[in-house]
Amino acid sequence: MTQNTLTKRLSDYQPYPFELEMVRLDFRLDPDATQVRARMAMRPLRAASALELDGEGLVLRKIAVDGRVLAASEYTQSDTGLVIHAAALPAQTFTLETEVEIAPAANTALEGLYMSNGMYCTQCEAEGFRKITYYPDRPDVMARFHVTVAGDAPVLLSNGNPVAQETGRAEWVDPWPKPAYLFALVAGDLVAHSGSFTTMSGREVALNIWVRKGDETRCAFALEALKRSMTWDEQVYGREYDLDIFNIVAVDDFNMGAMENKGLNIFNSKWVLASPETATDSDYERIEGIIAHEYFHNWTGNRITCRDWFQLCLKEGLTVYRDQSFTADMRLGPVKRIEDVSALRARQFREDRGPLSHPPRPDHYKEINNFYTATVYEKGAEIVGMLRQLVGPQGYRDALDLYFERHDGQACTIEDWLKVFEDSSGRDLRQFKHWYTDAGTPRLQVSDDFKDGTYTLEFTQKTDQTPGQGDKPARHIPIAVGLLSDTGADLIETKILEMTEPRQSFVFEGLSQRPVPSILRGFSAPVVLEFDTGHPPDSAFLLAHDSDPFNRWEAGRRLALQTVVAMAQGGAADPSYVAAIGALIKDGAADPAFCALCLALPSEDQIAQALHEAGKSPDPVAIHRAREALATALANAHEDALSALYDAMAVSGPYRPDPEPAGQRSLRLAALALLRRIDGGARAQALFDAADNMTESLAALGQVVAAGVGEAALATFRDRWQGDRLVMDKWFAIQLTASAPDQALSRAEKLVQDPLFDWKNPNRFRSLMSGFAANHAGFHRVDGAGYRFYADWLLRLDPLNPQVAARMSTAFETWARYDLTRQSLMRAELARIAQTEGLSRDLSEMSARMLG
Ligand SMILES: [Zn+2]
Repeated sequence: MTQNTLTKRLSDYQPYPFELEMVRLDFRLDPDATQVRARMAMRPLRAASALELDGEGLVLRKIAVDGRVLAASEYTQSDTGLVIHAAALPAQTFTLETEVEIAPAANTALEGLYMSNGMYCTQCEAEGFRKITYYPDRPDVMARFHVTVAGDAPVLLSNGNPVAQETGRAEWVDPWPKPAYLFALVAGDLVAHSGSFTTMSGREVALNIWVRKGDETRCAFALEALKRSMTWDEQVYGREYDLDIFNIVAVDDFNMGAMENKGLNIFNSKWVLASPETATDSDYERIEGIIAHEYFHNWTGNRITCRDWFQLCLKEGLTVYRDQSFTADMRLGPVKRIEDVSALRARQFREDRGPLSHPPRPDHYKEINNFYTATVYEKGAEIVGMLRQLVGPQGYRDALDLYFERHDGQACTIEDWLKVFEDSSGRDLRQFKHWYTDAGTPRLQVSDDFKDGTYTLEFTQKTDQTPGQGDKPARHIPIAVGLLSDTGADLIETKILEMTEPRQSFVFEGLSQRPVPSILRGFSAPVVLEFDTGHPPDSAFLLAHDSDPFNRWEAGRRLALQTVVAMAQGGAADPSYVAAIGALIKDGAADPAFCALCLALPSEDQIAQALHEAGKSPDPVAIHRAREALATALANAHEDALSALYDAMAVSGPYRPDPEPAGQRSLRLAALALLRRIDGGARAQALFDAADNMTESLAALGQVVAAGVGEAALATFRDRWQGDRLVMDKWFAIQLTASAPDQALSRAEKLVQDPLFDWKNPNRFRSLMSGFAANHAGFHRVDGAGYRFYADWLLRLDPLNPQVAARMSTAFETWARYDLTRQSLMRAELARIAQTEGLSRDLSEMSARMLG
């Protein structure tokens, strides 16, 4: 079909010409022939409009208006929907009734209604509802849903509150109007881990986490995280839950992390189930964060939704910002900030520097599933954080109060969102809006000068051209700055400088000495900071003294990158960096989680990006060697201190996933990773043999594999955990990420033959393939065999699950970084993908964009 060439544009937006007051859905479940009956009360808003409904892969059994079955000449059916001609419609409110048949068991794309291990479940965001029934499947059409589910399964769930439950049949009513993407249905043989929550106005809410039998013992942490999220949203945002029941269901086959369907969240089981033996510290933190994220959507996404999918970052940027703030409050704020910025740079900066760069609010797309990106989510969250800095904490709360008051029950735009900030703060945000509409990461250059007690900082900003966007106007950038004395004392309170010009100076008067600047504290804006080479910052001094934890860590990272980049080009380890790390290790125990982050070297992918940004072509093999050599140099220089730290950070007593013991473990494991370079993996093997929790067991496994002595441990681990799908996902991934680069491909080729490699399961597929692609030098083999292997598997997955295949194709987005040989090899694989007969719309758009 011609689908592949259809581009949707923001500028083409038209309101839907009907109001959908109420929808009743009746499901008769059957794996091969589920019957879906829909009755919709429609009110025409414009005279003589045809009625357009979306629908894909549906078998139409009946269509009637006010009880009158339509003749075939009164409507037109296509591959993508159905149009009822205006002449067939009454001028006043009418009832449209349809009956369709669908086959959930044959649905491998996991979008719409599908089956996972015998259980029925749905995924409708963004455009999955059209695979369930004919409907105006767009977020600005909101309706009240009344759903009846009939089937054999003992548990039958949908959105809202239950109004009737009997064997084989359940009825659910959702009093809150919602778009179809928030619809959900689950039916299966499930058990609940239950609890309750009393809201601030006294409403009793029943809480249930539904899982397969046997998994109910691993739900306690998620349930407590849900209660903490509900309390936090009341206290920090004044938002209360609005139904009598809140259900979460864990599903093994799921394309995404989790989905915020109204009152019935559906989760990838990976982000619900946790026990000390099977989940790592970072799993626990992610589970808490994702539970919070989906819960917070109840207000930012569900009660106030998006007008169209171009506005996706309205709900995602804000909700990511909210979940990040929540985790910062529950755990260690500065550590969380460093983790978030690291993730932003690893994913979003990488995306923004390549052919897939796009604005947080894109203005065109072919397949919206391809825009669930780091730019929409993580950069979207950074923009909300910048707004908060510009208006201050109270101004932010006032703006959000106005947002909820003004727009509750509406489908909104970025313009609506910025308007509440303008109206509540009186500020003009027209220039700020470029953060939403323009792609690219601004580069911020800084130089300084000191004369007669006056210190001047001069900034220049520039944003490179990106695909489809040429020269860009200056952004409105909040730059948090501190000034330090030569003993490391703060000379001023942290100040937010607002840059609005392409070049701008800021003056600090009355200083008795030349200060050391600490710029972009807390990473106050998502930019690349570059220093005037004539006056580079004293990174070792800042690493030792900066009172801003983010900038302390940042100084260490800058030193690490500088030295490893020099080493990749034949240089030696910088003694001042090695010494600075020694000082850090000495008092590391004072702040273990922070120290662990400072000891972690930049990833090989980040080193490659740094070289590319400096105008050099990265050599993956040289990068791998340089990083190993730097780690070895650190271990040799500080062996005794690291060894003492490793022993001192052992946590006694039963495992708890709390921030303090987790921080100790992370420092202990950071020391282990360095020591592995000189002890041949002996400590790691001992830890692997003794560990009683997954955090240490998995990290130790990675280190023995990296030391080249991991075969026995891999076999032991597999024997112990082969019946546990989530743990086995870790087993597949870690041996590929940790393996020596020249063995990664042969290992991956062996693993795809493993009977446990169920490639149709998204988690398992991602574990193996992303694990392989994360082995930077292994994936970027100069003979191109890594690229070929990866592309072969994308092409195999695409006909079954285009969404996952398309998302994973971003392993190729960095082709422009590398030497001409690798560039042409990667482009050849992308071209081979693009030219494949019958390619999905998803993967077709991605390969075309990456080829440029
Ligand atoms: Zn979300």
